[in-house]
Amino acid sequence: MQRIVLTNARLLDGDKPPRDKATIVIKGDRVERVITGPWSDGNSTDEVYDLVGRTVMPGMVIGHYHATYTGYSAATVLPVGMEAPPAVQTIRAANHLKLALHAGFTGVVSAGAPYAIDAACKDAIDQGLIEGPRMVAGSRDVSTTGHSQDGFAWHWGPGTTSQTNIVDGADAFRRAVREEIKRGAEMIKIFATAGHGTFGPSPGLELSEEELGAAIDAAHQRGARVRAHIAHRGAILTAVRLGLDVVDHGDGLDQECIDRMLEKGTFLVPSMFYPFRVSQVASGPQIDAMKKDMYEMYKILPVANRAGLAMTLGDDHGAQPLDHGNYADELEFYVKEVGIPALDVIRWATKFGGELMNRGHELGTITEGKLADLLVVDGDPIKDIALLRSQDNLLAIMKGGKFVRLRLSQSQAQNANMRSFASA
Ligand SMILES: [Zn+2]
Repeated sequence: MQRIVLTNARLLDGDKPPRDKATIVIKGDRVERVITGPWSDGNSTDEVYDLVGRTVMPGMVIGHYHATYTGYSAATVLPVGMEAPPAVQTIRAANHLKLALHAGFTGVVSAGAPYAIDAACKDAIDQGLIEGPRMVAGSRDVSTTGHSQDGFAWHWGPGTTSQTNIVDGADAFRRAVREEIKRGAEMIKIFATAGHGTFGPSPGLELSEEELGAAIDAAHQRGARVRAHIAHRGAILTAVRLGLDVVDHGDGLDQECIDRMLEKGTFLVPSMFYPFRVSQVASGPQIDAMKKDMYEMYKILPVANRAGLAMTLGDDHGAQPLDHGNYADELEFYVKEVGIPALDVIRWATKFGGELMNRGHELGTITEGKLADLLVVDGDPIKDIALLRSQDNLLAIMKGGKFVRLRLSQSQAQNANMRSFASA
């Protein structure tokens, strides 16, 4: 089998500090070898690229993704475009997923989509019908009557919408979760509190502990996981105690939350970029309240990061003012605005992203035996994290050992050397 060899690279493996003069050998869909220093086991059939010091890093993962989002309506606080027929929304999602892959994101974990569109897109990608990243399919939002995202005025229509599966009571939550899983959801989304992007106060849980516990148990029983929109300290502690897998946003986080999350292995997807961008373009009392939470998170996130809490990238792109495609802007935000070291933010985007996909054993780092999802970057993202924002700097994108993008030429000289070495 022909191998692809990336040699003379600066290697950012997704976890440890960079190593120079690295060689990554890819065979089939996997990383066969990672060597630092001289490489000498080439053969004449190898496809060799001398990277002259360019950086190889894992493909990134968006940990909070809405493939169908197109913007927010102030009237309903719901994403606009949800009124479109399912087929239109699916085509929109397919376009966004392709954008994600070409922005260097080889994996996405959904934070919710209507009409089981995620599961359909995941199937279509796996079948090669459309181009896109590896997906963890999301659900409709499973939440209670009148919760913060149940934004339609009561006289407008039924409680259950394409985006939201509105249920009350523990048994109803169990049934709703099983229904979402039946439709292909692997990650159930629950709105547990208001706050953060929902522009409402966040006084505590919007569902009962029994409802939340039943949802989590029902999901786990069928091998699915649960993520919840939470912007309240007490609600974080309750949800983590009940076994929640992913805290979205996590406004109100404190040291006790961090400790409990570390004990339970709970992920945090802070998605701070959305409130940051909203606060730049809007004003008023609701924005002020959001900013107050945001600045508290600026203080606690570096503490959580130093404590080793598993955090990932991902935000409400598609909801204005975050456009789809500009996903890597988030990395620069965490480095420059929040003060997280670039190496750590890259670990959020890669190693922790693979773990959030529940595939840490085969995704997220450049490690022998893992799937070859990787990027070749023109420059060093540790020195300038903003490099990742421009697709011009992504010289190669590889998913499962196949180039999705390739702007490198093969090294003829290297091939000749290897040929003579092989015949010697
Ligand atoms: Zn979201």
